[in-house]
Amino acid sequence: MTARDWLEKAKKEGFAIPALNAGTLEVLKAIVAAAVEARSPVIIETATGETKWMEAENIFCLCRNFADKYKIPIIINLDHAYTYEDTRPGIEAGFDLIHFDGSKLPYEENVAIAKKIVPECHDQGQLVEGEMDRIPGEGSELHAEGSIDASIIEKGKTVPEKAAKFVEETKIDIFASFFGNVHGITAGYTPKLDIELLHKIQQALPNTFLSMHGSSGTPEDQVRAAVSAEVVKVNVNTELRLAYRKSLEQALSERKELAPYKFFPQVVEAVKKEALRWIDLCGSGGKV
Ligand SMILES: [Zn+2]
Repeated sequence: MTARDWLEKAKKEGFAIPALNAGTLEVLKAIVAAAVEARSPVIIETATGETKWMEAENIFCLCRNFADKYKIPIIINLDHAYTYEDTRPGIEAGFDLIHFDGSKLPYEENVAIAKKIVPECHDQGQLVEGEMDRIPGEGSELHAEGSIDASIIEKGKTVPEKAAKFVEETKIDIFASFFGNVHGITAGYTPKLDIELLHKIQQALPNTFLSMHGSSGTPEDQVRAAVSAEVVKVNVNTELRLAYRKSLEQALSERKELAPYKFFPQVVEAVKKEALRWIDLCGSGGKV
């Protein structure tokens, strides 16, 4: 099955595929272990910094190797490429999905670059995700209290008619919808998803897959509601990073060995546990 087949299956059967960022081999191993245990398809993705660190060809080979060995579908995604140049490593390495995020650019420029990327990707069997509404909280980090302005969130949400025009002009396959979701986790702030708006976006884009970015920190019932409203790609980075960092600090303080393969298993276990939670929230377990 291709990436498109999996997204179509998810849409038809009412589940989402978790899109989990992997910035190290250990995180990648943890996501794979979770997918194998839960029999779930997964999207493994790297944003620009992670792609530079891991290198696109390595990410591609590692994911394909794991998918072959463990017989699980791994869709490889280039997450948040902000420029045409940033999309190149993923396109050239043969990733399955390319997320071009032109939301920081003027609308015309965003459309122009997307129109250039889409035919090229489609020729190679790659799908393209586009974004026009700037989802706040860039960086998948822990943000300080007060750094999110609720009025900006309200004003910045996707306008379904504008989204339909954007999709019509660019021919993107996946639309990064913004309906109250925010990147990262902000102290003292709980995201409130506008599920009614999500339904309207879905109705305006009946033939486009919808993604939800910034799922970390979102109350579980809201994530499930978004999945029920046909979001098929749920992006999570911050909570995996948190699990990684906390468990690594603990492992290093508890163990005195020098061999990384002796202290990394408990890190992999912690990240795997978090990945399994997202598989459960997405309802993707048992689909393989
Ligand atoms: Zn994102």
